[in-house]
Amino acid sequence: MTRQLKLFNSLKREKEEFIPIQEGKIGMYVCGPTVYSDVHLGNCRTFVSFDIIYRYLVYAGYKVRYVRNITDVGHLLDDGEDRMSRGARLDQLEPMEVAQRYTVGFHDMMRTFNTKAPSIEPRATGHIIEQIKMVEDILARGYAYVKEGSVYFNTPKFIADGYPYGELSGRVIDELLNESRDNLKNQDEKNHPSDFALWIKASEEHLMRWSSPWSVGFPGWHLECSAMSTKYLGETFDIHGGGNDLKFPHHENEIAQSMGSCSKAPANYWLHTNMLLLNGKKMSKSEGNTISPAELFSGNSKHITKGYSPMTVKFFFLQAHYRSPLDITDEALQAAEKGYKRLIEAIKALDSITLAFSLSPTIKDKEILNIIEESISHMDDDFNVPNSLASVFELISIVNSLKDGHIAATDVSIDCWNNMKSHLTDIVYSVFALNNDLEAESSKSLDGLMKLILELRADVRDRKDWLTADKIRDSLKDAGVQVKDGKDGTTWSLI
Ligand code: AMP
Ligand code: ZN
Repeated sequence: MTRQLKLFNSLKREKEEFIPIQEGKIGMYVCGPTVYSDVHLGNCRTFVSFDIIYRYLVYAGYKVRYVRNITDVGHLLDDGEDRMSRGARLDQLEPMEVAQRYTVGFHDMMRTFNTKAPSIEPRATGHIIEQIKMVEDILARGYAYVKEGSVYFNTPKFIADGYPYGELSGRVIDELLNESRDNLKNQDEKNHPSDFALWIKASEEHLMRWSSPWSVGFPGWHLECSAMSTKYLGETFDIHGGGNDLKFPHHENEIAQSMGSCSKAPANYWLHTNMLLLNGKKMSKSEGNTISPAELFSGNSKHITKGYSPMTVKFFFLQAHYRSPLDITDEALQAAEKGYKRLIEAIKALDSITLAFSLSPTIKDKEILNIIEESISHMDDDFNVPNSLASVFELISIVNSLKDGHIAATDVSIDCWNNMKSHLTDIVYSVFALNNDLEAESSKSLDGLMKLILELRADVRDRKDWLTADKIRDSLKDAGVQVKDGKDGTTWSLI
């Protein structure tokens, strides 16, 4: 049995009952990173949001194929240069070396935030044949034209034939027809400013290039997602996601490409995440209003007073609904750190609570079961993580009251207690995927401290001051640290 979900469909601008194409199964495509520089914190927020959405869909009983691509070609800058090629030139590396370096960095960061790998992670450069085929299909149906070896989508014809260009981004046709958002060098080549490139003829210095029926060149940025989502999820699939900055032109053009090639809309539901801000303003490298994940973790930034662990940052992300903007401030992070600690300490203590619970159902059970259900139904309601988290904290308060004796253990049945325990662990560890990095953090600092103490003790032993060496060992034991002197040196462990 799957749970009934409501999703806010950006295409319709309203919440809708979610009906999958195939019962019990979901195909979901999310636009992945452009791997020409380090992943930034805004990207992390979006990918963490979709990770929780993916995890919740699985929790809700669906079999999910989650496809998230790697953009390693075809993302043009304002001056028409490919981002990958520019990255390569600046770093004096091969474009694929740049892509590899930042893909590895992206994966490391996704692991740091404890997100799951998608079911398929296709690369744009691995799907050139599929992209060329899609251009051929669009050309064959009359919605594209060739100019000087490049191929452009014919937007006015698409609109004239009654297709919905502008529906997703809410742009009116006049606006679209006058707007040029395609950062091409050869703007004049296009028949109309609103046309966009499907295939671009490579200039002499362009590093990434492939043969095609039209020229040696490379695909337009929007094409990869259309070609790869079709290949792995079909012409129409269930959910398409990305940050809301991608609505136009990227997602609008994906819709046009799919409809232009086969008359079908690519996705039934479009989900868009909102942006991450820093001190109330959009993050911007040029204005110095930016903070990298590494700076946030280490505290090495003028914007914060100290470092915050990855799970504290993740807990902070969970404070806002994925469709709301979220503002990073030092105060908000400090509050998140307190909340995260309170949550994890309560979850960790669950197993050590052994009370004389009632053996038969109680009135209090009903209240607890209601809160458990609420914490799940908030997720059914367009993945409302902050509301679900509020219900989780209500449960944590009950756990603490039981522990402190403010609620008598006999007021709660053992079945209800077990239910609450496994629910809390499931939702916190498996859906929100907050792992316990508090322990990892404290053992990291203990590592350094123990290294120092054992070095000092080794000096004492070298001086044959056995009394002091034993005193250090015994005091450590009293503090919960076992020290063992073996022939390969001294080791320690927590008792
Ligand atoms: P990019 O690598 O620039 O293509 O972006 C990867 C994903 O991160 C896309 O879904 C973007 O919409 C999203 N994204 C970019 N900037 C931000 C931000 N400041 N806050 C949240 N998501 C963002
Ligand atoms: Zn995309």
